[in-house]
Amino acid sequence: MENNNACSKCGSIERKKGKIFGIASLQSLDSNTGFGGSELIVEFCKGCGEVTSIKVKNPSAIK
Ligand SMILES: [Zn+2]
Repeated sequence: MENNNACSKCGSIERKKGKIFGIASLQSLDSNTGFGGSELIVEFCKGCGEVTSIKVKNPSAIK
């Protein structure tokens, strides 16, 4: 692994992943249903908690 993966805050290269789901899931701007959408996958630094990446798990689920 390259050193540029190190956390910009604390220098740790260890990452953890979690997800945001339920009411906080990503929804279409055009939808009023309140359901559907996709979970968000959050990758964060194990050392300090700095979020390094947020990704839509199922982009095709957002219409
Ligand atoms: Zn960090």
